[in-house]
Amino acid sequence: MTTFLAKIPNHFDLPRRINRLGELAYNLWWTWNPYAQRLFNRIDNALWERLNHNPLRFLRQVGRTEINAAAQDPIYLELYDRVFGDFDQYLKTIDTWCARTYKNRCKQMVAYFSMEFGLHETMPIYSGGLGVLSGDHLKEASDLGLPLVGLGLMYAEGYFSQRISEDGWQEAVNNPLNFDDLPVQPVLKTDGELLKITVNFPDRSVNACIWELRVGRIPLYLLDTDLDENTPNDRKLTARLYWSDIDLRIAQEVLLGVGGVRALRALGYEPSVWHMNEGHAAFLTLERARELVAEGIPFAKAAQKTRRNNVFTTHTPVPAGNDEFPLWLIDKNLSNYWGELGLSRDQFVDLARSKQAWGETFSMPILALRFSEGRNAVSELHGRVSRRMWQFLWPEEEAEDVPITSITNGVHTPTWMARRMRVLLDKYLGEEWAERLDEPSIWDKVEQIPDDALWSVRIHLKRKLAFYALERTRQRWMNGGYHPVQAIASGAMLDPYVLTIGFCRRFATYKRANLIFNDLERLLALVNQPNRPVQIIYAGKAHPADEPGKLLIQEVYRVVKKAENGGRMVFLEDYDMNLARYLVQGVDVWMNNPRRPNEASGTSGMKAALNGVLNFSVLDGWWREAYNGANGWAIGEDADLDAEIQDESDVASLYEVLEKEIIPLYYTGRNSENIPVKWVGHLRPARQRHDPGYPAPAVCGAR
Ligand SMILES: *Cc1c(COP(=O)(O)O)cnc(C)c1O
Repeated sequence: MTTFLAKIPNHFDLPRRINRLGELAYNLWWTWNPYAQRLFNRIDNALWERLNHNPLRFLRQVGRTEINAAAQDPIYLELYDRVFGDFDQYLKTIDTWCARTYKNRCKQMVAYFSMEFGLHETMPIYSGGLGVLSGDHLKEASDLGLPLVGLGLMYAEGYFSQRISEDGWQEAVNNPLNFDDLPVQPVLKTDGELLKITVNFPDRSVNACIWELRVGRIPLYLLDTDLDENTPNDRKLTARLYWSDIDLRIAQEVLLGVGGVRALRALGYEPSVWHMNEGHAAFLTLERARELVAEGIPFAKAAQKTRRNNVFTTHTPVPAGNDEFPLWLIDKNLSNYWGELGLSRDQFVDLARSKQAWGETFSMPILALRFSEGRNAVSELHGRVSRRMWQFLWPEEEAEDVPITSITNGVHTPTWMARRMRVLLDKYLGEEWAERLDEPSIWDKVEQIPDDALWSVRIHLKRKLAFYALERTRQRWMNGGYHPVQAIASGAMLDPYVLTIGFCRRFATYKRANLIFNDLERLLALVNQPNRPVQIIYAGKAHPADEPGKLLIQEVYRVVKKAENGGRMVFLEDYDMNLARYLVQGVDVWMNNPRRPNEASGTSGMKAALNGVLNFSVLDGWWREAYNGANGWAIGEDADLDAEIQDESDVASLYEVLEKEIIPLYYTGRNSENIPVKWVGHLRPARQRHDPGYPAPAVCGAR
């Protein structure tokens, strides 16, 4: 179905018998196939870890002795042949879910635009949930055989890495990426020159080249303006994710929307569906209309024609996530463009005019909503909230009739489920479970997994997390400049056998990371109960320009540093996809207490659920739909309350449930082998199937 345009370079000096490792390094398929990962880490695990799981750097740096030994090791070669057998089969099969289910539509290409894509820790072109969702979307599309092409920006510096200073202040470290170390390749023309597209601004044109990244069967194209012919300022357009300078930000969005359409055209695509993952890409609607205007069709008609196959997903009701630009920026960046659409300035601004207390703006979500026929929010509650929020755009409709539906987000199971858990499910559910995870009956067999088998996987994952935190602490310590209290704050004292709660997410104020500090004495008493201690692990970044977010991190860090918590409260630096995997697999409870209904969906809790971690969360987003009374706990009620009342009632509920339910469940009801059988019972969602009105299992797939 999909064809990749770039050629895979063959610049590794590998023994002939295993020289396809270079090819594997250029397809992210290996990231969700544990046995493919083994092909690298079996050769030299220490190097693999040191290089942050980067196969390109690994293949360049691995020693001759190690690589030759692998090439002669029959066990390695058997694994190698099996993995490449699977890989080849995966790429060439035409018998996919999509082909079986939508025979006639499998050639209709979906273009998926997003400002960020979270695919792997070596590709830091994502900041958080939105990006990880885009990445999971590409991977799942690949597995299902959906004809899809991704479009985004290639950030030269990536998203920042986080360091926490001794007094708890977040320091942002920008790491220029070396594209040679990444599995991206420039798209070239037949003459060998870079394929480029041009976006015109009123005072200049900006060129961009295109990088190709392979995600299984799916190509992702990333635009890059760091070219000699561009001005220094324009070269910066793709330097960083989410510039807080709005002048750069709007130009980035013009590049993504307008440039993205031009790039797909230059690559030969004729998509049938154009999907905007959040409003950042909304200028694509205008560029598509402009293509028709250029053929002589009036704008109104062109917009009507193209609207039919535009799809927009809104991801947040929080204003900071809904970009809008003051009109002077529209003049500065688009005054050439409205003429090309055959519109006056006023007509153009009217397409997405929004009135704020401080003046008029041009709103990207309004543009996207008006010029898409498919519109969706990301959970049922978020759907309801979005219909109310945007009702003014459909003044003749009642709120419930506003045409915004909801599709609850999902996660890509093979990316987030621990290998051990997969092996366990293979054994008890049958190996085809992964192909059929949307069939409720497949989950009935979860009942048959013995307590000790399930718990031993849980203990293994908990130990892995504790060991990993310790190892990172050791690295930081050895690099110098680390205060002893920071070593304790970063997890040196973690005990894998203690009840462990994870609170890991972006530090945005609505997520209320400090809610649990409301009664600090009570919290410290809980953490320190002699026979039933509790560990709390924090992780997360704040946007570098988000001062309140950074202050929250500092507040958390100051509590974490208190000697009174006995090293049981910790903050792990630099939350990224790698750390996220350890955390969603290695804690016991995944806690989330956003101020409802701001979470929209949330996905990290789903990753946790896949690994037998119980959720303890406000009834917002996905959890409001998945919670069934037995697969975890609710904080607060399923009710719309004013912020202050909600803060109070949620904090009361949080302590109550922790003290009366979560801690006793973990520490009591253990059998003679010290397995908490009651706890383990809650990890098997199928147990509750007999309840009338039982909702979907807590284990959610991206379908
Ligand atoms: C899954 C994930 C997120 C999204 O988490 P939520 O808190 O559910 O929004 C953010 N960051 C990383 C690194 C993730 O893996």
